[in-house]
Amino acid sequence: MIVFKKAAGIARFIAKKKESGSTIGFVPTMGALHPGHISLINISKKKDDITVSSLFVNPTQFNDKRDFEKYPSTIATDIDMLEKAGCDALFLPDVNEMYPDGTKNERQYDLGYLETILEGKFRPGHFQGVCQAVHRLLTIIYANRLYLGQKDYQQCLVLQKMISITHLKTEIVICPTLREKDGLALSSRNMRLNEAERKEAVKISETLSFIKKELKTGYLEDLKERARQYLTAEGFKVDYVEIANAATLEPIENNDGKTPLVALIAAFVNDVRLIDNMLLKE
Ligand code: AMP
Repeated sequence: MIVFKKAAGIARFIAKKKESGSTIGFVPTMGALHPGHISLINISKKKDDITVSSLFVNPTQFNDKRDFEKYPSTIATDIDMLEKAGCDALFLPDVNEMYPDGTKNERQYDLGYLETILEGKFRPGHFQGVCQAVHRLLTIIYANRLYLGQKDYQQCLVLQKMISITHLKTEIVICPTLREKDGLALSSRNMRLNEAERKEAVKISETLSFIKKELKTGYLEDLKERARQYLTAEGFKVDYVEIANAATLEPIENNDGKTPLVALIAAFVNDVRLIDNMLLKE
């Protein structure tokens, strides 16, 4: 695997590969890699000729400075994991290389209501930062396909919108969430959980399964409220429990039994904020 620290270097590498007819699959990450990230690399390797990853903890998408400062960093292990997975190239920029004109986001992406709900509501500015970083990355690594995890459901919709606004030609491939045996979604933030918190954290995915099992047509508020109350009683600080249209993420109050739905949860176990989601009808 070739590691590039400079944008010009990896852009040249990509251009050469494209000239020789290869397709490029791209997996952006913030490092602290786990098998969930590697599952995206594996899917890219099946679909595209060349797989490129990036590792950059993007400061502009953290609305909470402490969360940024505590974000785990395991660069040597990450490089080793990517190498073993057969990733062809890694872009490992520092903040000046990513943002040569400074981190201030001059461009505002018109994300519409997507930015005002769920993660957008609880993490103001987060999605503007995500768009800024991925837009910049895609202008350096002009990929045919961008591989994203369903784990960050709203992020997939936001980046779809960013790509359509900016007229980039990259196609998004949404990949399934990899979970621990007990159902906990793999996440870099899980590294911050102690043993007791780790046991606690599984209740998020259990609650999503509970919602899936209990889902009926008609009003959904009661089901959402039961889920919220359960998590609160178990000691979580719940940001949201929502059931939404799987295509648009508009919150659904009344289930017509036909619209594909997704349940989404964001909750803190002590000071670690975890998110997860589950499609209720595939
Ligand atoms: P992150 O490093 O958290 O920004 O994640 C990089 C990419 O990996 C994003 O597209 C995530 O949605 C994806 N990802 C994170 N966790 C998982 C998981 N458990 N399974 C599959 N993909 C994941």
